[in-house]
Amino acid sequence: MEKNTKRANLLPYGRQWIDDDDIEAVIKVLKSDYLTTGPAVREFEKEIAQYVGAKYAVSFSNGTAALHGACFAAGITKGDEVITTPITFAASANCILYQGGKPVFVDIDRKTYNIDPKEIEKHITSKTKAIIPVHFTGQPAALDEITSIAKKYGLVVIEDAAHALGAEYKNRKIGSISDMTMFSFHPVKHITTGEGGIITTNNKEYYEKLLEFRSHGITRDRNKMKEVHGPWYYEMQFLGYNYRLTDIQAALGTSQLKKIDRFVEIRRKYADQYNAAFSNLPQITIPYQHPDGQSSWHLYILRFNQELLTVNRKEIFEQLLSMNIGVNVHYIPVYLLPYYQQLGYPKGLCTNAEKLYEEMITLPLFPKMSQEDIEYVIQSVKKVISMYSI
Ligand SMILES: *Cc1c(COP(=O)(O)O)cnc(C)c1O
Repeated sequence: MEKNTKRANLLPYGRQWIDDDDIEAVIKVLKSDYLTTGPAVREFEKEIAQYVGAKYAVSFSNGTAALHGACFAAGITKGDEVITTPITFAASANCILYQGGKPVFVDIDRKTYNIDPKEIEKHITSKTKAIIPVHFTGQPAALDEITSIAKKYGLVVIEDAAHALGAEYKNRKIGSISDMTMFSFHPVKHITTGEGGIITTNNKEYYEKLLEFRSHGITRDRNKMKEVHGPWYYEMQFLGYNYRLTDIQAALGTSQLKKIDRFVEIRRKYADQYNAAFSNLPQITIPYQHPDGQSSWHLYILRFNQELLTVNRKEIFEQLLSMNIGVNVHYIPVYLLPYYQQLGYPKGLCTNAEKLYEEMITLPLFPKMSQEDIEYVIQSVKKVISMYSI
């Protein structure tokens, strides 16, 4: 068969990998006493904390809820400013708004596409309370620089590591480094619980606040209570939410976590193959990898150099889609979304981010892809480039 025959079905950009043992783990919980938050949740939290090298982990119903919890635990409240990147999913900034805070978008570094640490200090005011760096695509942000700025100004660092389970920064696992780190278990991420998220931390105070926040702000710890009416008694001490993960989901997560190293290894292997195939084509720029980090490759993004092509990104995107390649664009700069526009963020706020947005395409990358899938994508991209080269 000819290499470039069109695929019969759409190859998605990301997809879960569920095996029989994952299914068995869920069935076991369904037959047990606990469906909602019970022993399987505690086991999953223990396993995640151990994997990333953190003291504590608190799971949530999704990654966005986990970020909300982290903003609460960090004490972010009405009028506070929080610095983050525009090249991310809306959740990284929405969590600030949930607490009444103001997201302050700092432009990305042109090479790494992560928040530019050199730009951060210029945006710090007396109202700044925290920084939420995002490890975009799985490549760690410049944590040493960010940590030292945070120390200097007394800011909390909450890592959005939705893309970065299994990534390393200077030989330390992401999840063990900052005040709090969030991971997501949405099916396109490294491992899945259906919906799900977690905060890892080494700070006992944050840990206890997060536990209460995900369960209505209720405590059953007698040492924290104002009074005790009897054995049934609990106190709701602040307004929390029902953001709990279920045992059904957590059992799936624990089973999936056993495979994380293999999943990351396959992602790295495929990313290397893409890099090797595309590195000498002047029409495209492959992702730059900073030597401080070891990416876990959640996303593979190509940048199309408009000067060397006769068509723009949109046409290249549509061509690849017509070849049944489930390309995507990560992300529309958050402040360009209509809701944020209505809040008053101006266009042109972060020029590097907006330029990247105009030129990038996400290629499919997930462990369950086959070698033939990778080769199909490589051949198709090369074909489209040759069609439209100047
Ligand atoms: C997926 C994702 C989230 C949110 O996670 P959910 O589990 O979908 O709520 C937050 N930030 C980034 C960068 C993400 O990719």
